[in-house]
Amino acid sequence: MFQGILITKDASGQAAALQDIDDALLAEGDVHIDVAWSTLNYKDGLAITGRSPVVRRFPLVPGIDFAGTVSASSHPGWKAGDAVLLNGWGVGESHHGGLAQRARVQGDWLTALPAGLRARQAMAIGTAGYTAMLCVMALEQHGIGPGDGEILVTGANGGVGSVAVALLSHLGYTVVASTGRPAEAAYLTALGASAIVEREALSKPGKALAKERWAGVIDSVGSHTLANACAAVRYRGAVAACGLAGGMDFPSTVAPFILRGVTLYGIDSVMAPQSLRQQAWARLARDLDTAKLDAITAEIGLDQVVPVAHQLLEGKIRGRVVVRVGG
Ligand code: NDP
Repeated sequence: MFQGILITKDASGQAAALQDIDDALLAEGDVHIDVAWSTLNYKDGLAITGRSPVVRRFPLVPGIDFAGTVSASSHPGWKAGDAVLLNGWGVGESHHGGLAQRARVQGDWLTALPAGLRARQAMAIGTAGYTAMLCVMALEQHGIGPGDGEILVTGANGGVGSVAVALLSHLGYTVVASTGRPAEAAYLTALGASAIVEREALSKPGKALAKERWAGVIDSVGSHTLANACAAVRYRGAVAACGLAGGMDFPSTVAPFILRGVTLYGIDSVMAPQSLRQQAWARLARDLDTAKLDAITAEIGLDQVVPVAHQLLEGKIRGRVVVRVGG
């Protein structure tokens, strides 16, 4: 037996609780892992609260991320004692996830813990931070450099947003942070934002084309915020869209794309190929200021996961939440 969060469903609905789980539940996978750290992402909040149907089987251990040590493996790439991390691949949705002391997954899904990062730091980054890095890399590959102008980061107090602000400022970009929590302006400035835009200025229906301002955008909000961001991107600039915290819709027109040559990059972390993941994690180990990472990270135990998941979806959590799982 081991301890973990289990999501169950019966006639009265879905529930999540910390409990003892039988090893037999972890039926599939060629690598066994002793999980040391996990984290709470927006999607974990959706799974644990049942607000959106992200859980594909019941009962299910949630947790789209984990870091730990291989305890047994029949996969040629991994052996007992290896330090590994996992992000996505449907883990925590259709396969048992990281919010438990043991996990069993396919070895092809695992990434080696990058040199220079401890397991706790990797989970402080988590899927949110790794996705922020995928967004930064998309803007870089588009050719946007620090000298090209302001980069807008939306949902800036969230996990993706906080890491994106810290990464971009470390790389020398001028970052403008959009937030619905202006009281947190000092936090965002300390992370490296040079200016704050109130969420309201972007979240209402806007014009098809607005005054050109942003060299690039990292958007974790979607809906009108994404549409307004696209409308104000400078000629041949780019937007990396990864989230839907404000809505799944995209009420835009083609105007920014066909009149200003704006490019919209879709960012998916879940099924991203291993080569891209390794590149992103190596960059995170190099380009994320660990003092800033510590400043955006709160630590909880497995016993606090369920209430904190509710707070996350209520927009009450700032930055990242790391979950102490092992020992
Ligand atoms: P968080 O909950 O940590 O942050 C989301 C932030 O969005 C909040 O802190 C808030 O920022 C802002 N926000 C919340 N509600 C609204 C709203 N109604 N309107 C406008 N802004 C809002 O989530 P994450 O950072 O972990 O994830 C952000 C989004 O990115 C989610 O939709 C998630 O599903 C998605 N995501 C996608 C991935 C992918 O692979 N494509 C991977 C990881 C995340 P503030 O208070 O500053 O306004």
